[in-house]
Amino acid sequence: MAEKPVAAYAPAEAKAAVTALVAQLNTWRQEYYTNDAPSVEDHVYDAKYRRLQDFEAAFPELITSDSPTQAVGGALDADLPKVPHPIPMLSMGDVFSLAELQDWAARLEAGVERKVAYNVELKIDGLSLSLVYEKGRLVQGSTRGDGNIGEDVTKNVRTIPDIPQTLPEPLDIEVRGECYMPKAAFAALNTQREAEGQSVFANPRNAAAGSLRQLDAKVTKQRQLATFMYTVIAPENYGVTTQHEALAFLQRLGFAINPTSVVAADLETIDDYITAQTADRDALAYGIDGIVVKVNELALQAALGNTVKVPRWEIAYKFPPEEAETVIRAIEWTVGRTGVVTPTAVMDPVALAGTTVARATLHNEDQIQAKDIRIGDTVMLHKAGDIIPEVSRVLVAKRPADSQPVEIPTACPSCGETLVHLDEEVALRCINPRCPAQVASQLTHFASRNAMNIDGLGPKIIAQLLDKHLVADVADLYQLTAEQLAGLDKFKEKSINNLLNAIDKSRQNSAERLVFGLGIRHVGGKAAKLLLEHFGDVSVLSQTEPEEIAEVPGIGPIIADSAAAWFATPGAKQLLAELAAAKVNLTYTSGVVQATTGAFAGKTIVITGKFAAFSRPELAKRLEALGAKITGSVSKKTDLLAAGEAAGSKLAKAQALEIPVMNEAQLLETIQSEEK
Ligand code: NAD
Repeated sequence: MAEKPVAAYAPAEAKAAVTALVAQLNTWRQEYYTNDAPSVEDHVYDAKYRRLQDFEAAFPELITSDSPTQAVGGALDADLPKVPHPIPMLSMGDVFSLAELQDWAARLEAGVERKVAYNVELKIDGLSLSLVYEKGRLVQGSTRGDGNIGEDVTKNVRTIPDIPQTLPEPLDIEVRGECYMPKAAFAALNTQREAEGQSVFANPRNAAAGSLRQLDAKVTKQRQLATFMYTVIAPENYGVTTQHEALAFLQRLGFAINPTSVVAADLETIDDYITAQTADRDALAYGIDGIVVKVNELALQAALGNTVKVPRWEIAYKFPPEEAETVIRAIEWTVGRTGVVTPTAVMDPVALAGTTVARATLHNEDQIQAKDIRIGDTVMLHKAGDIIPEVSRVLVAKRPADSQPVEIPTACPSCGETLVHLDEEVALRCINPRCPAQVASQLTHFASRNAMNIDGLGPKIIAQLLDKHLVADVADLYQLTAEQLAGLDKFKEKSINNLLNAIDKSRQNSAERLVFGLGIRHVGGKAAKLLLEHFGDVSVLSQTEPEEIAEVPGIGPIIADSAAAWFATPGAKQLLAELAAAKVNLTYTSGVVQATTGAFAGKTIVITGKFAAFSRPELAKRLEALGAKITGSVSKKTDLLAAGEAAGSKLAKAQALEIPVMNEAQLLETIQSEEK
């Protein structure tokens, strides 16, 4: 239904409408800028914002200081330090059609009474970032904040690989640009968050903002952020006279600049650029939400100046939302590896932004309720971050009388166990560790290429192994026999041998593959490698306190707590014992050439106490390089106890079992002579 024209409003009626619009928009701004979690899409916000602008143009007396038309950004994060911006970081005006763009350019050119050249760039879907360098060294990174005061994110910015820490010249300079999250990183992050029962980010811009505005820089580092810089502050100091030159100058200084921009002398060139970039949009590695048209000459930019909120010399041409209409036929609930149960809408196939879409994740129960989705509903779809199909909204007017509310399951669709919400989680979770759906995805993950790399052990075979009760966890794989496999569908001698060989071969893998394969929450492939490089052996890692794990460079408290909590469970202890009994290697061997002869070769050694010359993990690494196997507890199988200062019960036990003991001096001497 068309909205009533603002001119038809009586003043009192207009006042009520403006108050409601301001309140609504400010709520959305809080969600978007401060919480990085918008509840409506940008074009919904943009439409209401335009409506408010129309009212304020017709009734200027209704403009209030809390109107979003008078302010940049939103409230700042209370926990991040603040940084003033002596030159404000502004927002940008926008247009939604070529005709509007033409009007904007015509007004601008009428004011300066001459033909103007423009630099046309992609509008990157991220958040603005300011970087300050002193004598060529990065000293500060900050967000836009409310335009006058931003948030200090210097530590976080230092973790972004494409930002230079030092410049090739010792310049004092401030540069600005966009920090963004590439599409692939955005998709991976949301998949991971969904699997972990956390809320997902609505788009790459909010994901980038949520990742940059972190108190812990280690979190930012994991998020794979990237940048494109486009503004030089005080360009006259560096002999830069146009926006085009500014980009080239930034590139010379080592910044990432977006390579697509062009100088356009007329609207036709801008139109061509828009057409070409719209066509290429799906293929880009990062999200864009429009095109930015900037006056190229910097002196003219300065002369044109700014309004309270936006520069007069630039405008954003915003892309229309790419949407498609379809009908939801069913909701499927699936159990992931970590037990999170997620709903997927199954829909009539429809073409959307370059692909045919028939399924869309609804993420969790809250999203279904917030969007009031029912089976039979006609819905609009869009692609979050230009890649992930999402239901934008229900077309309630098209709701059929027999639409079915979505039934939220109370029992696991795989094992029937009661589903729960863990603390602070939006997700429904099945906490039955023996749930077949979870075990199946755990086994698939365990066998996958980056984990134990067991060739031929895919989801179909795993499903059969589970059906026939031949395996219940990953350790059972190592007990499989040829007779058992002979009972599997289409399994002949050759495939049986191949699978058994692949399983056997995986016993020799370096232990970081095993730790990654165990699917411990937050412990990805990279973290597993850092942990094993440091601790040398799973049995050492499994007995280390979380505080000590968190000291490993690159490992934060979240990973450390999660790993320590997992290893502390009785189930994990039993699983590791079973794996060890099945002769699965628990030692880090990647990049370590193991000695086969010498004083420590083949010896099972336990390390205890404090050492002056090395940390325990360092000692473990050096002993392992000399062929030793490090274990955590003293038993009859222990060949040697490496005892530092203040060795306690392990020393007593070793003495009782008459196991040889070496003190630090003896160890150091033997290690040094062996290492020669
Ligand atoms: P904006 O994002 O529309 O445009 C300004 C920003 O564009 C700049 O600050 C800069 O960071 C960025 N940018 C990207 N590429 C650029 C380039 N090449 N050159 C210059 N700048 C570039 O403006 P805004 O004030 O940051 O945000 C307003 C928009 O945010 C709204 O139009 C709306 O789409 C969205 N929003 C949405 C909600 C919601 O609830 N969904 C709420 C508030 C705002």
